[in-house]
Amino acid sequence: DFFPRKGKRNGAWMTSFKSQYIENDKNERPHVSIVCNFTKPTNTKPSLLTFNEVTTLFHEFGHALHGMLANTHYRSLSGTSVYWDFVELPSQILENWCYEKEALEIFARHYETDEVIPLEYIEKIKKAANFQEGLQTLRQLSFGMLDMSWHGINPSDITDVKAHERTVFEKTDLYPDVSSSCMSTAFGHIFQGGYSAGYYSYKWAEVLDADAFEVFKEKGIFDRSTATSFKDHILSKGGTENPMILYKRFRGSEPKIDALLKRAGLVT
Ligand SMILES: [Zn+2]
Repeated sequence: DFFPRKGKRNGAWMTSFKSQYIENDKNERPHVSIVCNFTKPTNTKPSLLTFNEVTTLFHEFGHALHGMLANTHYRSLSGTSVYWDFVELPSQILENWCYEKEALEIFARHYETDEVIPLEYIEKIKKAANFQEGLQTLRQLSFGMLDMSWHGINPSDITDVKAHERTVFEKTDLYPDVSSSCMSTAFGHIFQGGYSAGYYSYKWAEVLDADAFEVFKEKGIFDRSTATSFKDHILSKGGTENPMILYKRFRGSEPKIDALLKRAGLVT
C-alpha cells in the first residue's frame, strides 16, 4: 500500500494481518503488508522515489522479511515478536544495501535513459548523512541515558528535575547548558509511548545493524550462505531465544561498536 490517500495515516510501517505459527502439524504462513506514503505517480511520470523513500522501502521490507520468513511454533513468538531492542535489526540492516553499487545497479536506473545512478551521487549522499554525526551521536546517547536514569532508580528520590538531568548530561555535553531548558519534562519517550527506559534501542539497533552488515561486506552483499545464515539464525527465529544468543550464532561473537563508528565517519 504505497501511496497516500484521503484518511490514511502518515509515515511508513509493516502490518501483520496474520502471524506465522504451527498448528496440527500445519505451518500457517503469515500475511504481511508494507504501508507507505510515497511520491505518487502522475499522468506523465511514474512514481519517482526520493532516496529517503528508497531507504524507507528497504527498512519496511526488512520488517516484512522478519514476518514472512518466520518459522516458529507459537504465534506469540513469531516474526517481529521479539524484544524491543532487537526488532529494528532486520529493518535497519536492509538499509545498508541502498548504498551499495551492486544493489543499486539492479534497480536505481533513470526512468527515461535507463542509466544507473552515478556512484558519485551515492558518495555525496553518504557524506551528507554523516554531517554533524558526532553531535547527533552524543545527543542520542544523552537521551538514552536520561531515559534510563529516570527508570534506574526510585524517581521519588529525585527531588530536583533539572539538577538530576544535569548530572546525566554531563557525560555527553558538547555545548554549555542552557539554564532555562529542561529536557526531562519535554521528552515524551521517558514516561509514555511505550519506551520507558527503552530509548537506547535506537542507538543499539544501529550498533547491531552496522556490525551484522560487516559480515555481508566481507563475504559479499549477495552471498547466499551469509544470507541463509541470517535467515536461519535471526529472521526465522522470532523471539524463541534470547536475541544475543541468536545474534552470536549468526555473527560468531557479540556486536562491537567499531563498524558503527566507522560508518558514521567518527573513526577512519
Ligand atoms: Zn522500523
